[in-house]
Amino acid sequence: MFIIEKSIRECRKCNLCKTALNAVCGEGNIDSSVVFIGEAPGQTEDETGRPFVGRAGKLLESLLNEIGKKREEIWIGNIIKHRPPQNRDPLPEEISLCQPFLKAQLATIDPKLIVTLGRFSMNYFYPAGKITNDHGKLRKVGKYYVYPVYHPAAALRNPTFAKTLKEDFVKIPKVLEFIDKGAK
Ligand code: SF4
Repeated sequence: MFIIEKSIRECRKCNLCKTALNAVCGEGNIDSSVVFIGEAPGQTEDETGRPFVGRAGKLLESLLNEIGKKREEIWIGNIIKHRPPQNRDPLPEEISLCQPFLKAQLATIDPKLIVTLGRFSMNYFYPAGKITNDHGKLRKVGKYYVYPVYHPAAALRNPTFAKTLKEDFVKIPKVLEFIDKGAK
């Protein structure tokens, strides 16, 4: 993982590194059976070089606590490693240029379950997915089980999304159990 993170910090493949303060490689327990993947760093993440440390991160931590997990027990990352200016949506070519890093990180961690946070992260794994339809539904994508939920930042803006995010989140232990029992 150290080599991948070094490559991310040195990467100049797209223009996002020119405006970002720090690369945000991802962090946490690389032996975790579950990983949480968001879209891209925001302002606080850019300033600190750490994923999910702003308000959305606090919400993620409280949801993790609800399912009996601490932040340091799991791994958290993003599909894009440098912050897009003004938190704009990442461009398709930026996602495409950055995607080998997450692919390599997931190959290293080899998680049992990938929880995607928001539509960009879900679409990284299955591009035709619609978050409004596909949230809370487990899917096998290649060798990985993927479980999409709304992004915590969206939940902070919209009480309906917040309710749905919590409902989907509390099912994660059951989803893991289902996978453990040999879901096909
Ligand atoms: S966002 Fe990704 S592809 Fe673009 S410079 Fe950063 S690490 Fe490289």
